[in-house]
Amino acid sequence: MNSTKLIPKAEIHVHLEATIAPDLCKKFAKRNQVALPNDIFGDHYAYAWEDFYDFIKKYDVVTSVIHTPEDYSELTYNYLKECAENNVIYVEAMISSTHAKKKGMSYHSFLEGVVDGANQAKKDFGIISKYIMNGIRHLGFESVHQTALEVLENPHIDLVGFGLAGDELHFPPNLFVKTFDMLKEAKFPITVHAGEWDGPENIRKAIELLHPTRLGHGVRSIEDLNLINYIKDKNIVLETCPTSNIATKIYNSYKDHPVKELFDKGVKITVNSDDPPFFNASIAGEYEVMRSLGLNDEELKSLTKNAIDSAFCKEEIKKELLGKI
Ligand SMILES: [Zn+2]
Repeated sequence: MNSTKLIPKAEIHVHLEATIAPDLCKKFAKRNQVALPNDIFGDHYAYAWEDFYDFIKKYDVVTSVIHTPEDYSELTYNYLKECAENNVIYVEAMISSTHAKKKGMSYHSFLEGVVDGANQAKKDFGIISKYIMNGIRHLGFESVHQTALEVLENPHIDLVGFGLAGDELHFPPNLFVKTFDMLKEAKFPITVHAGEWDGPENIRKAIELLHPTRLGHGVRSIEDLNLINYIKDKNIVLETCPTSNIATKIYNSYKDHPVKELFDKGVKITVNSDDPPFFNASIAGEYEVMRSLGLNDEELKSLTKNAIDSAFCKEEIKKELLGKI
C-alpha cells in the first residue's frame, strides 16, 4: 500500500447519481428495462461525451437507469465501499430529488433509499456520509426554488446542505437570489458551483448573492488577486476537482491547473472527484495528483482537515472525524 493510500481522506464534492460505474449502469438498465444507446460507453473515459454540453446530455442518459429507492441504495453503498477501500473517512455527496421524481420516486422514498445504502456502508466499513440536495440551475428558478422549499419543509438528519449545480454560464447567480435568501434565513448550509466555467466577476456575485460557505470548483478565482483575498477573508473553502476540469478542457494539464497555486496562496482547498467515471477520476486519484504536485503527507492531511472543518454535518461528527486524521 503506498503512502497516499494511507492518508485519511474526505470528499465533499461528488454527484451521487454520477458515481455510477459502467457495470452498475448495465445492471440497472437490464433490471429497469432501459435501452441504452450503444455508443454511451467510451474508450477514453468510462462514458463517451464530447464537450460540457454533451456531457450534460450524456449524464442524463447514463443516470436515466436509476429508477428505484433500491437502485439508490445499491449505488450509494457501492460508491461508499470504493471510498472506504481508499481510506476515505467522510463523504458529503450531492443528490438530486429532481432526478428521482422524474423517475417516479417520491421525495421520501428516494432519500430513504440513499440513507439505507449509507447506513449499510457505515455498518460494514465505518465510513460516515451525509448528503446535499442540489438544485439544477438550467431547469430554472422555479425548479430550484421548489427543490429548496421541499428540503426545508422536510428536515432529515442526513440531509445537511443545499447546492446549486448545472449550467453556470447561462444561469447566473442573480436568478436564484430569492431561494438562497430563504435558505440563509433558515440557517441552512449552502454550496454553489461557481468559477468552473465563469470568471471572477460571477464568483464574486455568487458569494455576495447566494451566501455560500463553500464554492464548487471556484478555481477561476486565481484570475483576480483581490477576489482570492476576499475568499480568504470570508473563510470560504473551495471544493476543487482538478481531473474534472482537465477532462472538460478548462485547463490543459495538472501543471496548468491553479490548484497548487491556490494552495500555496493559503486558500482553503479540498480535492474531489465530481463525476468519477465520466472523467476516470477518483478521490484517491485526486490526492495522488496533489502528491505529484509536491504536497507532503501533512499537507495532504490538511486537505482532509479543510473538508471536515467546512463540512455541513454536526460538530460532534466533525470532532470524531478530526480525531482520525
Ligand atoms: Zn460538480
